[in-house]
Amino acid sequence: MSNDPKRPDSPAQDRNTSLHLATLAVRGGDENHGLGNATQVPVVHSVAFGYHDVDEWQEVALLKRQGHIYGRNTNPTVAAFEEKVRLLEGAEAAVSASSGMGIISAALFAMVKPGDRVVSLKDTYGGTNVLFTEFLPRFGVEVTLCDTTDFEAIEAETAKGCRVLYLETPTNPTVKIVDIERLASAGRAVGAVVMVDNTFATPVNQNPIALGADIALHSATKFLGGHADALGGVACGPAHLIREIYHYREINGASLDPMSAYLLLRGMKTLHLRIERQNENAMRIARFLSEHPGVSKVFYPGLPEHPGHDVAARQMRGFGGMLSFMLKENTFDAVRAFLPKLRLAHRAANLGAVETIAGVPATTSHVECTAEQRAAMGIPESLVRYSVGIEDARDLMADLDQALS
Ligand SMILES: *Cc1c(COP(=O)(O)O)cnc(C)c1O
Repeated sequence: MSNDPKRPDSPAQDRNTSLHLATLAVRGGDENHGLGNATQVPVVHSVAFGYHDVDEWQEVALLKRQGHIYGRNTNPTVAAFEEKVRLLEGAEAAVSASSGMGIISAALFAMVKPGDRVVSLKDTYGGTNVLFTEFLPRFGVEVTLCDTTDFEAIEAETAKGCRVLYLETPTNPTVKIVDIERLASAGRAVGAVVMVDNTFATPVNQNPIALGADIALHSATKFLGGHADALGGVACGPAHLIREIYHYREINGASLDPMSAYLLLRGMKTLHLRIERQNENAMRIARFLSEHPGVSKVFYPGLPEHPGHDVAARQMRGFGGMLSFMLKENTFDAVRAFLPKLRLAHRAANLGAVETIAGVPATTSHVECTAEQRAAMGIPESLVRYSVGIEDARDLMADLDQALS
């Protein structure tokens, strides 16, 4: 979509590759797995890796030589998964965890100590928000949550000094857009570690590190895996920070399981194809819904009227597969009547899969909030979150049409 070096079509900052994203999604990380000539990365279930030579064993233990010792620390299948995501994000290093929350909490807890300050957004993922409001304060970390699209306020809070500036874009469920480049530079000015949850965009649509962030985080459970059959999380960034996150994760113990790593690796081979289709389907469906009489508002950054459209067009290569919309009748009863009428969408608390998934914030991402709190957060009672799959968009539009009528 662009030759702007800030939005590389391939992560050109990676010293070892000039390959493009689609190629890296298929082939990245699957060579040199050190497990014979298998063309597919083998699933290594062994918990332990033995050594005859004690000196070699010690060098591996001290990270002076490549190898594996114990499955909670590292595993060859898991390492191949981390390598594939690292290449796609154009990062120096990557480390995984057993879920998105596993890696997000490891990244945060690895960076902060009592007395530190974290600046973030009101619209982060529900679980992340609980870390900010419940757990980090318990350890003496001050957290300031800003209005997600008030970039001036975020800059001002960041300028007061913080250890971590934590961003997420696009956000859940109203698909708000945060200006990564602008805010990352505010974070760097005060020496903060800038983290971006890139789950909704995926590395196909957006590379936060190329936009100035330090760490890109993913719930691999969603688009990276793409098949709703494995949990996982991954952080990409400079080696010195990833080492700290790895160290916390190896002790915390939320390590990615090798079978899940295999399923995620397998899913990622089609990441580029899937995301291209999901971008395209979501754009068509967003246009369709915005003209539908049964819908009062559509939230999708690809629509020119979306308040974050210009920033999204600058920092993203595609607008993603997530959208949400408000029903004409803005009541929860209207949603209760609408949702069961959908025939093609799974109704579930998930997103990013090959199948289209419809959800309601009141029962999924914001289940712990009251109706008043949801309203205060700008989440209308009739909001439907729609994760667009890879089906034929014409079938999805027909399904929406019959359910709305
Ligand atoms: C799902 C999700 C998470 C948490 O990931 P899990 O794999 O469920 O732990 C974090 N961030 C975003 C944006 C998500 O959608």
